[in-house]
Amino acid sequence: MMVAVLPMTSGKAVPGGVCRVGGAGTLIVMAEPFLDMTPEEFRRRGYAMVDWVADYLEKVDDLPVQSGMAPGQIRDLLPDQAPENPEDFEAIAADLDRIVVPGLTNWTSPGWFAFFPSSNSGPGILGELAAAGLGQQGMMWATSPVCTELENVMMDWMVDLLGLPAWWKTAGPGGGVMQQTASDASHVAMVVARERARRGGADISRCAAYTSTQANSAIEKGLRVAGYGFIRLVEVDGVYAMRADALSEAVGRDRAAGLVPTFVCTTVGTTATTAVDPVRAVGELAKEEGMWHHVDAAFAGNAMICEEYRHHQDGLELADSYSVNPYKWMPMTFDGSLFYVADRAPMIQALSILPPFLRNEASESGRVIDYRDWHVALGRRFRSLKLWFVLRYYGAEAIRARIRANTAWAADLAARVEEDPRLEMAAPAPFSLVCFRHRAGNEATDSLAAAVNRSGHSYLTTSRIDGRSFLRVAIAQANTRKEHVDRLWRLIDETAQAV
Ligand code: PLP
Repeated sequence: MMVAVLPMTSGKAVPGGVCRVGGAGTLIVMAEPFLDMTPEEFRRRGYAMVDWVADYLEKVDDLPVQSGMAPGQIRDLLPDQAPENPEDFEAIAADLDRIVVPGLTNWTSPGWFAFFPSSNSGPGILGELAAAGLGQQGMMWATSPVCTELENVMMDWMVDLLGLPAWWKTAGPGGGVMQQTASDASHVAMVVARERARRGGADISRCAAYTSTQANSAIEKGLRVAGYGFIRLVEVDGVYAMRADALSEAVGRDRAAGLVPTFVCTTVGTTATTAVDPVRAVGELAKEEGMWHHVDAAFAGNAMICEEYRHHQDGLELADSYSVNPYKWMPMTFDGSLFYVADRAPMIQALSILPPFLRNEASESGRVIDYRDWHVALGRRFRSLKLWFVLRYYGAEAIRARIRANTAWAADLAARVEEDPRLEMAAPAPFSLVCFRHRAGNEATDSLAAAVNRSGHSYLTTSRIDGRSFLRVAIAQANTRKEHVDRLWRLIDETAQAV
């Protein structure tokens, strides 16, 4: 029961009850503890919050991409202890501008060329809002039939859109699930591979795993977490792709030493330079050796929505698992990595534990998918909702057009670099990442990057291979337009002269 007792503009504690500021400045006292906003208040605050987010998105290009805050400065703005008494929502929301915005790294900025982007879009944000509002826990079909079945269908749609093997669909022996990140996806593959080896009689303390020196650090980290004692970083060729012959030699050496080659990860589009490992050659070796082959296509896998890029993943029909992150290049809001397996049986065998409190009729009928058996966590968010919104709002053709535009702008930037006597390309640019360096060496290259980042309107990151620094310009943020790439180039051009 709620009772409006007195006019008020700010919330106060009331003995024996919980109070809230209601409409027209009245203080609402709840006779019993009732901790949610009223629907009327939620509606009012919600409209205001959507306005606030829309204003942020509108002005994000004018904000510095990197935060100007020093370490500890944000902590100093926050109280040491949680409040005992309610606060006005206005005061809470006002702290977004006072504390949160100054501490942001603006990943949504169109001047974002760093790492790979973490995308954002209106339909993606609204899908997240709806998912939060619905409060679903999709750990099993029975705990949210729609969370499970919408995800089944989204994962199947993406099989067709990305040209993946048809048997990775829900109706086949394989299937797909949305993991939180690519790190989680590859980690599941590693654990399933290890368990498959154990069930096959292998001594898991002898399991060996392979990836290239250019694989994302998430792969080596996942292997450590999964308990692989022998992790081999295989050499790469002149364009930074894994050497299949070096892999074959490493596997041979390990077999001879009594180890059990168990898992190999190739990358389609490495983080440093978007190099593409030889998926088919590694897949054939993995089949011969009985190794699990995971393909990490976190960023570049998005390009496969355009048929002309699919030759980069030739041999995928030999892979055991695959992951791609739509939030890195499609306009889907973080998080959500699409993870596919060619055969779901070993994964479910490895990850399914059924305590009595999770038993239910639907699961026992064998007619439903329980995604809790497809990843490490039990609870899971309703991630497919935002992917559904994004795919329907834009349509595949618009997403293809954007990926093609990004790669065309990258080719244009690469051509400018190649024509410039001060600069040189550091690696080929098969997608929309352009890697180049200053010919004067590491110091000149690093100071060029620092000058770009000091501008405030553009942000890029550097990397190093074999001790040589280079700039990475990742053109994939959903808000970036050609004019932003041109603005970046003008800055590089002006700054490179001064180096
Ligand atoms: N794999 C590749 C090729 C990546 O580029 C990245 C991140 O950029 C990852 C894995 C890790 O991604 P996540 O943050 O989704 O775990």
